[in-house]
Amino acid sequence: SNTGTWTGRTVTVAAGRGSQALLDTAGISIATYGVKGECLAVRLAGQPLRSILFDDAVYLVPKADGRILIGATELPHDETIGVSVAGVTSLLQAAERLYPPIRNAVIEEVWSGVRPQTEFGLPYIGVADSSRRIFIATGHHRHGILLAPATAEVLANTLRLILKEEVR
Ligand SMILES: Cc1cc2nc3c(=O)[nH]c(=O)nc-3n(C[C@H](O)[C@H](O)[C@H](O)COP(=O)(O)OP(=O)(O)OC[C@H]3O[C@@H](n4cnc5c(N)ncnc54)[C@H](O)[C@@H]3O)c2cc1C
Repeated sequence: SNTGTWTGRTVTVAAGRGSQALLDTAGISIATYGVKGECLAVRLAGQPLRSILFDDAVYLVPKADGRILIGATELPHDETIGVSVAGVTSLLQAAERLYPPIRNAVIEEVWSGVRPQTEFGLPYIGVADSSRRIFIATGHHRHGILLAPATAEVLANTLRLILKEEVR
């Protein structure tokens, strides 16, 4: 839930770009910034693309429902909402260079989000304040979905260790 007041003896702050503000309220300081990303989904008749294509500027990911995802822009320190013409244009131009048939596709959806990035480029995962049992998992930038299982495992192991020490 993102409303109301919830109390717990152990808290993990995993609020993406909101983590820094939440930790600030506990007097814990982390250095993160937002990196806006824009993406679009297209549909191509016949859908001949079967594997992921990518280069430095763009990736094309065919999905089971027949759509192709085209992403993603990277705009550091931009936390605005909305998808810009410049963003979509640059992605589509790069996509067409990589895979010319994409020019015949129909745009189905565009969206944007803000990735949480840390000043040192690696995520914060683990103990933020052991005496107050505050844990943290944030700052995954472009890889938060990919790294979700690994993040959960590292965090769960850390929690187990700390809680075991408390029982001793
Ligand atoms: C266009 C785009 C494409 C991407 N593609 C990929 C990809 O292909 N693979 C990949 O691995 N990653 C991708 N990412 C990055 C990925 O989305 C992030 O790394 C990931 O979402 C970070 O996960 P998170 O749980 O830390 O934060 P979030 O996903 O941002 O989740 C944080 C949650 O906390 C909530 N929250 C914030 N503040 C509060 C508060 N005060 N109280 C309660 N709740 C709060 C938010 O509403 C949100 O639901 C992409 C990002 C973008 C923008």
